[in-house]
Amino acid sequence: MGLNRSTIGALVSELAGLGAVHEHRPEADPSRPATAGRPSLRVVPAADRVQVLAADIAVDRIVVALIGLGGTVVTRRRRRRTIGPASSGPAQVLAVLGEMFDAVLADRDPGVEVVGIGVAVPGVVRSRDGLVRFAPNLGWVDVPLGEMLRDRFGHLPSRVGNDADLGLLAEHRRGAARGIDDVVFLAGDVGVGGGMVLGGRPLIGAGGYAGELGHMMIRPDGRRCRCGAHGCWETEIGLPAVLRALGLPEDTGSEGLSEALARVEPGSTVLDDVGRHLGLGMASIVNLVNPRLFIVGGLLREVYPLIEDVARSALAEAALVAPGEQVRIDVPLLGGDASLVGASELAWSDLLADPTAVLGAGTAPGRGTVPRRRA
Ligand SMILES: [Zn+2]
Repeated sequence: MGLNRSTIGALVSELAGLGAVHEHRPEADPSRPATAGRPSLRVVPAADRVQVLAADIAVDRIVVALIGLGGTVVTRRRRRRTIGPASSGPAQVLAVLGEMFDAVLADRDPGVEVVGIGVAVPGVVRSRDGLVRFAPNLGWVDVPLGEMLRDRFGHLPSRVGNDADLGLLAEHRRGAARGIDDVVFLAGDVGVGGGMVLGGRPLIGAGGYAGELGHMMIRPDGRRCRCGAHGCWETEIGLPAVLRALGLPEDTGSEGLSEALARVEPGSTVLDDVGRHLGLGMASIVNLVNPRLFIVGGLLREVYPLIEDVARSALAEAALVAPGEQVRIDVPLLGGDASLVGASELAWSDLLADPTAVLGAGTAPGRGTVPRRRA
């Protein structure tokens, strides 16, 4: 940072005073020779003191968590949702979200300061105010989720983002894509979303809507997609396509999927069509943006080991040689938590921009701690 030792010392003391970091004296390592002078303090984020509420809203489930500074998931709750108009309306989802947030807040340790809310949704989100423009698999059009969160939890700043963009953000900061500047993240669930970091910067687009990889057309005579078009990539590799290939009903859900995948015999070809379409779609993206890493996330990460060979050969067949040679395919290091942790990254924005304003002025309007619910 180009700062001298005493400036860093003063800044760290200030952050420690705010409760944002802990300073530890490292334990002496008996296997290494003692060096002269006092060992430097280790400074670590105070995950046990400063936390945010994060939520990942998926079509068939809602997961909420308290996440500590540094990305540690402290407490979580998960609820399976039945899919349908009665349970997917914005008001219903917000009511469930509110109950789940209250439950994790009631569990938190005394002394914890909660400083924000971040929510991941499977849809196109206007980043400025959290307006969900279109979430086809939830049946949402122009739902002001950001505004609804501010009405319900006004004392906490809240932000909303696209689940795939947030999954990528978390993987780029803390997971499989750390230190890699050209990355594509695929969030394959009921719907299929995508996010990209190119040249070290997230691809956003004019309105924040870029990267909807699931609606890339791959089969013009294909099935009708929830977006209204025909033959989108999502109709060939999304969860319903996987369930159809496995001979399961479309409302099977993620637990049923895991059980069914465990029963697939080695050498079975039932998922070959999904694998082939995965590889073909990846080839177009590889040709277009030349990524170093392609992360297969969402529920598709569980399917990927079974279709890897077919997907790789379709990719090799359809991608240009030069970019095809450079891309590595991986699953998220954060597993199913990528979008959830990414939502928390969004919630940290204010704190990271100005920790003294958020932690130092607990009485500032619109900021500060949530009233403690536990006596
Ligand atoms: Zn579509």
